[in-house]
Amino acid sequence: MTKINLTKIKGNFSSLISSVISVREDIIDLIKLDPTLTKENGTNLDNNFNLSLNSRKKKDLARWPIFIIILSAITCLSFSATFHLFGLMNATYFNILNRFDYGGISLLISGSCYPPYYYFFYYAIKYRNFYLILITSFGIGTFLYSLTDDFNKPQRRSLRGTLFLIFGLCTGIPILHMAFFGNTIEGYSKDIILINWYLGGFSYVIGALFYILRFPEKKFPGKFDFFGASHQIFHVLVFCGALFHFMGSLDAYKYRFKNLKAY
Ligand SMILES: [Zn+2]
Repeated sequence: MTKINLTKIKGNFSSLISSVISVREDIIDLIKLDPTLTKENGTNLDNNFNLSLNSRKKKDLARWPIFIIILSAITCLSFSATFHLFGLMNATYFNILNRFDYGGISLLISGSCYPPYYYFFYYAIKYRNFYLILITSFGIGTFLYSLTDDFNKPQRRSLRGTLFLIFGLCTGIPILHMAFFGNTIEGYSKDIILINWYLGGFSYVIGALFYILRFPEKKFPGKFDFFGASHQIFHVLVFCGALFHFMGSLDAYKYRFKNLKAY
């Protein structure tokens, strides 16, 4: 009989939590691993962490976009957890909390865009501000619309899924902008890593398709009433998307950290 290694699971969980909380340690690891960052102006940072003036300034690279994505993920998943825990207590709770179950996703999508837009377009300030203002407006607009009676009518189900699908796909436009026209963007370097952004986007799209198509319960009525319904698959894929995008955010941070211009 296979024994579950609780110590290992606990260790993995702890390391995940610490990686979420401590972006700072990530920076130190980066300095250790990258020889071009360990010696600067003749100072060996690996031995004494006596950071040179430039490295101290690099350390000041803003981290608030990382906290935005963490905050938006916590908000979205808290809304969903609240709805699924208390939504069935009565019709009023269901009607109100159900709106936040969907609305939180628009906050998560827009919040996930802050790190890539901020770090990738760090020196292309016009693009950066344009994309950030646009995504914030879309996110708040979609969130507010998702709280209305009109949005929550049963006949709007496909519209809900399609709206989130289109919204999610549109957020990829600046990423494609960076991927295909990076050499025309100020402060661009070829060592950019985008795989986690593609995987996150893929998870969201597949999740939205499950939601719109109501698969598998529509095809097999009664078989997925407790486990495996499209709504559950949808939430799992949203969680996976958020996780991929969080890892992509750390990639984006490291990318900008390594490619900061000298002060
Ligand atoms: Zn839900």
